[in-house]
Amino acid sequence: MDLALQAQIPVNRYRPSAPLRVTLQSIERLTAPDSPNDVRHLVLRWQPGEFNWHEGQSVGIVPPGVNAKGRPHPVRLFSIASASDGENGDGTTLALTIKRFFWTIPETGEVLPGLCSNYLCDAKPGDQMWMTGPVGREMVPLDWTAPMVLVATGTGIAPFRAFLQQRSRLAPAQRGRCLVVFGAQTADDLSYRAWMDGLVATDPLLHVVYARSREEKTSDGRRMYVQDRLRHHGAVAWELLADPRAELYLCGLKGMEDGIEAALADIARQHGGDWPGLRQRLRDEHRLRIEVY
Ligand code: NAP
Repeated sequence: MDLALQAQIPVNRYRPSAPLRVTLQSIERLTAPDSPNDVRHLVLRWQPGEFNWHEGQSVGIVPPGVNAKGRPHPVRLFSIASASDGENGDGTTLALTIKRFFWTIPETGEVLPGLCSNYLCDAKPGDQMWMTGPVGREMVPLDWTAPMVLVATGTGIAPFRAFLQQRSRLAPAQRGRCLVVFGAQTADDLSYRAWMDGLVATDPLLHVVYARSREEKTSDGRRMYVQDRLRHHGAVAWELLADPRAELYLCGLKGMEDGIEAALADIARQHGGDWPGLRQRLRDEHRLRIEVY
């Protein structure tokens, strides 16, 4: 990763004090109607020239209304799920992957809807909303020919959808090898799975594997997680990561980080490699990119 190039990636064209007015073009539920997980694909639109970004960046959405102190709600950040030429390829639309979130008050057990995710999941085409950003440079790939290992849990797939959309729009010679390891509770929760499988069919350098934690078990009877699936494809992962330009991206739940570290340590041992050494090189060269919450 060239840090000088990374530092040039524009951020904060629109701040919360002066956000961009955008229109919801479409909203589609990605999970089945009876699934407890309500994940939606939203496409936002603006006028030509008003917004641009790099794959791996995020936008802020300003929830309507004010908080208990009468102040505007802080923006909530979401990864952009579209390539930098836009969802429609004309630079005036981007997609977000939003899960309807609920939280529980520990003292009372009362379940409350998350403000912004419910606002977005309930929005209707034609609704106008306020958007800020783009923000974030950490997850932006600068070399699409570099080998990549992308590991996502749940809606953490959003930035990788942008990567894969971009990849699908590049000429074959402009793309490197890529392994995607994506985990969700059930097959139904694997957002964009059919689309990704379609990409694999036409992109011989792309390999996508899944972990369905509530439908598959490990050999010792645990839920199948991305780290377990990564172990199954350890030879491919290690071959990719051994390349001096390789980049490793993790996105999703915070808990996945330790599991992936442990899996990579095991994989390294099996292949006569040195994970602590490789991790240090990846970190030093900014080729290890992590966005977990
Ligand atoms: P989720 O549905 O709760 O979980 C996704 C999968 O991860 C499930 O199969 C889950 O298994 C599994 N999992 C749970 N603990 C794990 C662990 N320790 N190691 C590996 N896998 C584990 O995920 P989600 O609700 O979509 O949450 C995704 C996260 O991504 C959130 O923290 C969100 O903030 C973050 N994120 C979102 C965006 C966005 O733009 N929307 C962008 C970046 C990051 P079980 O439930 O069966 O245990």
